[in-house]
Amino acid sequence: GALTVCFAVAAVGSGVVVTVLLGRRARIARLQSDLLGNVSHDLKTPLAAIRMYAQTLQSGIVDREPAMAKQCIDAIARETEWLDAMIERLLTWRAAARDRDGMDPVTEPLGELAQEVAARFSRMVQPGEVDFQVRIDTALPVVHDRRAMGSVLVNLLTNAHKFTGPGKVISLSLRDRDDHVEIRVEDNGIGIPPRELRRIFEPFHRVEHPAGMRPAGTGLGLAIVELTVKDHRGAVRAESEVGRGSVFTVTLPAAPREDRT
Ligand code: ADP
Repeated sequence: GALTVCFAVAAVGSGVVVTVLLGRRARIARLQSDLLGNVSHDLKTPLAAIRMYAQTLQSGIVDREPAMAKQCIDAIARETEWLDAMIERLLTWRAAARDRDGMDPVTEPLGELAQEVAARFSRMVQPGEVDFQVRIDTALPVVHDRRAMGSVLVNLLTNAHKFTGPGKVISLSLRDRDDHVEIRVEDNGIGIPPRELRRIFEPFHRVEHPAGMRPAGTGLGLAIVELTVKDHRGAVRAESEVGRGSVFTVTLPAAPREDRT
């Protein structure tokens, strides 16, 4: 009797293990194929736009309509920035997953980097598309990897752009607070339901937004943001109200006095 019970328990136990393993495998396979699908969609959209503008230029419009030619060239430059940001995001994710010590730290205030990112973001949007407000008021030095922190800011700004309808108002602000620097990226977009506010930082997690508001994406942007900010001994949090907008706040510790140059 006892033996039968043991066999039965073992059989059920291994059944459960196999089911869990198969379930895990299926989930990973699904994640991978979702990721591939999203990545190709992400890359194809700006590529298709670049091709269209290039073909318009090839059609000889340059001679007839110089103003329109300029618009095409500007659009190509803009779309190239988006492509670049996406590829950078994928590479950062791979690098972050593989080698989290590969940082190249500098100790300086974040103002200059924020200016550069703001200029880059302005090149990514159409003229007049976004009311983009930048307030940089920070002097505290922060130990950071420029590339990694730059990609944090680009990720937050491109999200603000993606999840906001017409009449976009987006702001980037930096200020010093005691012994840390606070970076805020605010938008007037569709917002995030309260129950999703923690989950959005999980890799591959994407919110089911109402139909028509599901822009391309991989669900990696915020995971990279969180990983990078933690690597810098900082923290990131999101606050949001559905239908009104979102605020992402990153806080980073100022460099210890003895490390300042
Ligand atoms: P992706 O943008 O590639 O989908 P992210 O990791 O950057 O991936 O974001 C995860 C999810 O969090 C997004 O799919 C979106 O649902 C939500 N999200 C991120 N930023 C915003 C924002 N500013 N406004 C509304 N939703 C956002």
